[in-house]
Amino acid sequence: MKCYDCPRECGVDRTTERGFCGANDKIAIAKIIKNFMWEEPCISGSKGALAIFFSGCNLRCDFCQNYKISHGCSGEFYTPEEFRKLINNFDLSKFSSIDLITPTHYSSFLCEALKDFKSPIPIVWNSSAYEKTDVIDKISQFVDVFLPDFKYFDNNLSKKLSFAENYFEKASSAILQMIKNKPQNIFIDGVLSKGVLIRHLVLPGQVKDSMKVLDFISKNVARPFISLMGQFTPLGKYFSRKLKPLEYKVVLNYALKLGLENGYFQELESASNSFIPKF
Ligand code: SF4
Repeated sequence: MKCYDCPRECGVDRTTERGFCGANDKIAIAKIIKNFMWEEPCISGSKGALAIFFSGCNLRCDFCQNYKISHGCSGEFYTPEEFRKLINNFDLSKFSSIDLITPTHYSSFLCEALKDFKSPIPIVWNSSAYEKTDVIDKISQFVDVFLPDFKYFDNNLSKKLSFAENYFEKASSAILQMIKNKPQNIFIDGVLSKGVLIRHLVLPGQVKDSMKVLDFISKNVARPFISLMGQFTPLGKYFSRKLKPLEYKVVLNYALKLGLENGYFQELESASNSFIPKF
């Protein structure tokens, strides 16, 4: 079966070849962290998430905080059936959510694994948003919460940092489709049990790009729920510094001016390597 799961549309047969994401025809998991508390409070909840970090990535950003797993494809390999059993073996009552982290390149396999899975806690699709609308429709059937990271507006920036010249076009369409499929945010005991939380990480020197992303959200999403992140850590070859507190403040003030008050805003002290999971 040839793979067209994401906007790269490599068309490779993953049983014998690898596309841009580096994944083969099994679900590769780099790490599972129990009671993961590093997401937004409505995702981590009081018990923490069951965080599943998938290997490989269809975006492979230069500044990726999880580059050790995203820029390769190692770990434990599972068929969809084995993945389903893996999830079933956890006592899910001990977690607030199931956090599927960077899952896009396993969309077809996860659809198969989770199609009739009745989860007692929300399943969160924690992605880069570089996704196809028809694939979003399929995964909407088993995912409760979308947590897309809306990264760039400018095509030159996305090309330089993520090899994706059409990032904005694809991500904006994917996010609008997520909202169409999960139009209402529903919380149970402070945990987002259905809905969409849009993340945006402000990059050093890219305040204007962040403003354009926020403009798009403000104009196109009726009741946006956002998470404005500033914990950028310079790990790649393009950025040599952290985000300045003033840069974050300018973007934050702009978001508030647009009326984007419903969401999460960060303290920049969190821009530390200690927030990067070790693999
Ligand atoms: S999921 Fe991987 S192989 Fe499939 S189209 Fe995307 S990058 Fe290519």
